Amino acid sequence: MKVAFRRKVNKNPQHLIMDNVKILDRGERYTHASAGSLKSFEGKQFVKDATGATSCEISFGTLPSGASVPFFHSHKENEENYIILSGEGKFQIDNDVFDVAEGSVVRVATNCDRNLRCTSSSPMTYICIQAREGSLGGYTMTDAEITQRENLL
Ligand code: ZN
Repeated sequence: MKVAFRRKVNKNPQHLIMDNVKILDRGERYTHASAGSLKSFEGKQFVKDATGATSCEISFGTLPSGASVPFFHSHKENEENYIILSGEGKFQIDNDVFDVAEGSVVRVATNCDRNLRCTSSSPMTYICIQAREGSLGGYTMTDAEITQRENLL
């Protein structure tokens, strides 16, 4: 499985990037996009360009059984938070390796190498959120406020 996956992606990471993200709804203050079924693609789907996000980049990733991302990479200014949605695998940061599974959340700092491999018989699906390290100020109760509006749901 690993060999077949690597053959598909060639040496160019762009081969991993699918473009199935579609804008479903757009309003003055929001954009609703979808990558569709996470089981329907291999590689990565980046959504920032579709939603117009200004604070972070979000990508959906899938790895078939036995496959790893075909390259290590490091970020200069952005930390990454990987959220494993399904499957099981191993995560490597520099020379540290640990197990991950559905529900795992891994924060990876700047200036270190990272990769992950799917070790389960089913594909691993995950979300990666990258944002500038140290940029989070207020959040939840220090940034949000309860507002009054008619519930139209
Ligand atoms: Zn990255």
